[in-house]
Amino acid sequence: MIVAEQKPVAEILRMIEGYRKILVVGCGTCVTVCMAGGEKEAGILASLIRMAWAREGRLGPLIDVSETTVERQCEWEFLQEISEKVAASDAVLSMGCGAGVQAMARMFEGKVILPALNTKFIGMPERQGLWTELCAGCGDCVLDRTGGICPIARCSKSLLNGPCGGSQNGKCEVSKDIDCAWQLIFDRMKSLGRLEALGAMLPPKDWSKNRDGGPRKVVREDMLL
Ligand code: SF4
Ligand code: SF4
Repeated sequence: MIVAEQKPVAEILRMIEGYRKILVVGCGTCVTVCMAGGEKEAGILASLIRMAWAREGRLGPLIDVSETTVERQCEWEFLQEISEKVAASDAVLSMGCGAGVQAMARMFEGKVILPALNTKFIGMPERQGLWTELCAGCGDCVLDRTGGICPIARCSKSLLNGPCGGSQNGKCEVSKDIDCAWQLIFDRMKSLGRLEALGAMLPPKDWSKNRDGGPRKVVREDMLL
């Protein structure tokens, strides 16, 4: 899942300064699961804006803050459902990830679409209230050679052939709160009886599949219309 967190309310209020009709749009998928931008959070943010504007004496018949939530902001068909609400607003505060914000900006040309969240990473919930990064979307996965533990996202130096020498008691030299990814890889490969495989150097990664060449695409020829 994509993990995000809400921007500080003060920053959001600065962003919407000068607009009179705000539509807060939640997203029902990843950001609902990470409790950053789902229906509940959209309702809370809309209320916070109303309260802030009421304190400033700004609320009135021509000034309005409303909220709605779509199943996924990153798919056209779901955005279609809120076309009328978007048309009736001056500015939209998207509580989707960066893909959701940009999908709305493309769908609703000429409408101001603002991000209410900071999109952080691809990860998962570790336990209640804690999400961790697991994948950096490098485009050339090496998990088959690292026991299913990502050295790009989870090693602080993204080392392909670790550890770096700074690891102590299984912790990363960057912080004793961070597990050394290469210690985890070693332990996992040992438990799989595959330690020998770690003796082979991982070759330099093909970073052309990452950021080189601009925005990436996945094309499925068999599905293209
Ligand atoms: S190697 Fe690349 S694709 Fe695989 S989990 Fe790590 S960052 Fe993601
Ligand atoms: S201590 Fe481990 S996780 Fe930290 S930078 Fe070195 S190899 Fe990577």
